[in-house]
Amino acid sequence: MRQAWDINSFEMGEFLRWIQKSLGMGKARCPEEERCLELLRIMLDEQATEEESKYVHKHIGNCYRCYQNYELENTIREAVKSKTHHLKVPQKLVNEITSKINL
Ligand SMILES: [Zn+2]
Repeated sequence: MRQAWDINSFEMGEFLRWIQKSLGMGKARCPEEERCLELLRIMLDEQATEEESKYVHKHIGNCYRCYQNYELENTIREAVKSKTHHLKVPQKLVNEITSKINL
């Protein structure tokens, strides 16, 4: 699935979050929190449509509250993944990397 946001708007989001955090706005409730949480879970499960992913990225770019939810969900998923699947690096990739380092 294609990543459905562009880097400029994402950087802008970082900036807005930083301002919100600095101003203590992160504690504010979000009227769309429930809907957003549901959509971002779908997105993290890679079941979301491009439109849904766009919505989530746009929203968490401007909403520190939902961004925190996103971070939390993401961290949980990463933790579950690393417990259930041991990372296997294909030998071909190892060889490629090794040959690049040796150059
Ligand atoms: Zn929100």
